[in-house]
Amino acid sequence: MISFADLTVRYGDAVALHGVTAEAADGEWIGIIGPNGAGKTTLLNALMRLVPFRGTVTICGQPASGLNRRELARLIAYVPQRPLLPPDMTVSEYVLLGRTAHIGYLRMETTTDKRVCADVLDQLDLGPMAGRALRAMSGGELQRLVLARALAQQAPVLLLDEPTSALDLGRRMEALEIIDEIRHERGLTVLSAIHDLTLAGQFADRLILLSGGRIAAAGPAASVLADAVLAEHFGAGVQVVMTETGDLAVISRRLPHGASVR
Ligand code: ATP
Repeated sequence: MISFADLTVRYGDAVALHGVTAEAADGEWIGIIGPNGAGKTTLLNALMRLVPFRGTVTICGQPASGLNRRELARLIAYVPQRPLLPPDMTVSEYVLLGRTAHIGYLRMETTTDKRVCADVLDQLDLGPMAGRALRAMSGGELQRLVLARALAQQAPVLLLDEPTSALDLGRRMEALEIIDEIRHERGLTVLSAIHDLTLAGQFADRLILLSGGRIAAAGPAASVLADAVLAEHFGAGVQVVMTETGDLAVISRRLPHGASVR
């Protein structure tokens, strides 16, 4: 599980997060939604200690401030929005980076490390590309590879920042289903910043709506994905519809000429 209390992040004079408090239980999936600039990436970066913050973070019962980088990497895996992708590295070399926290200093990877990497590559349909250089991969393939690296880390908490933005609709569902499967198998705790509100509602147990660096709404999808809530933060053209199968879908609707969109 992961919890954070009174998290505040400043960039110079600007406050990007204003004392945010929340928690995700073991096996829980929290979707972090919100308009551009709301503070979603900043929140995930603070949890990863990639930006200075005020407040406390507790991961699996341990204060994050007391953990070194290696200990942190054993507890949290992160799929950032803009990962570093060395173009000459191969797919198998890149996914092996996910095992860094498990491989001792100056040690070679073990057969377990190799098996874990091969398994996640297969899970994400990347096995046949294992020898390929990253420069020769499509945007969607790279995004699946970054997810594969994070899953190879086998950490109990997974942070995802827009993990499926480059994927086609089918691949999007597929990648999120794989994460969901692993979550059920291993009790993985997932926090994902996601712009696709329909998918957020379908996969997350609870949603946190950030706006202006504050939690504007939180709860199950049915309470957060409501027309009035979304209109206030995303504009009047965003509408929630209920499908025949009982799923909530968030659609954009063109407004009559002259109507104010936001
Ligand atoms: P998006 O949906 O566009 O990815 P977000 O919700 O992830 O947005 P953040 O990236 O967390 O938003 O940014 C929150 C605010 O902090 C924005 O106003 C952004 O311009 C600002 N910000 C982010 N990183 C920095 C930085 N390194 N220095 C200064 N300001 C920053």
